[in-house]
Amino acid sequence: MTRLFEYIGTDNIRLSVADCPVGVRIKSVNDLKNWINKTMQKPDTRGLIAATFVVDSEGYIRLADRHSEHIACAGGKSILSAGEIFFSYNKQTFEVVEITNQSTGYCPEAGSWSQVEKALEQIPLPHPGNFTTEFIFRRCPVCRQLNIVKDDLFLCAVCNTGLPKIWNCDCYRTYI
Ligand SMILES: [Zn+2]
Repeated sequence: MTRLFEYIGTDNIRLSVADCPVGVRIKSVNDLKNWINKTMQKPDTRGLIAATFVVDSEGYIRLADRHSEHIACAGGKSILSAGEIFFSYNKQTFEVVEITNQSTGYCPEAGSWSQVEKALEQIPLPHPGNFTTEFIFRRCPVCRQLNIVKDDLFLCAVCNTGLPKIWNCDCYRTYI
């Protein structure tokens, strides 16, 4: 079953990125090479190229500069997954070596990996078989704080209220 995640971050960010370029669709290894060249991506200290990604509603990876907002990368639309992606590159061969679902704008569930996997395999790009770091997002039902659950501790970091086991980040859409 495919699930679309709507943007649930702040309106401030939504408005501030209205003029930012939409992420570039990567349909082939060539598209990836072109994106890296055109946007002049530089390897980080570990020799990896880091980027912001979303999987758009049609199942394609879109890339934007690292630290771009996911909503800009997605062109303001709903997405199948989102996070950070790290490519290694050796003799024109690219591989996804690290990938996360870290996006507080969309809070995609770790289960959205299946959509990422499909998108990567149609390029095709080798990948680690799952998110290398998984984030669990929950909204506090009392104070509305968005939490990242750590060590299976389902407690709000602000008010210590128990957090639900089921994804609920789109509650309280008026949250600013
Ligand atoms: Zn709370």
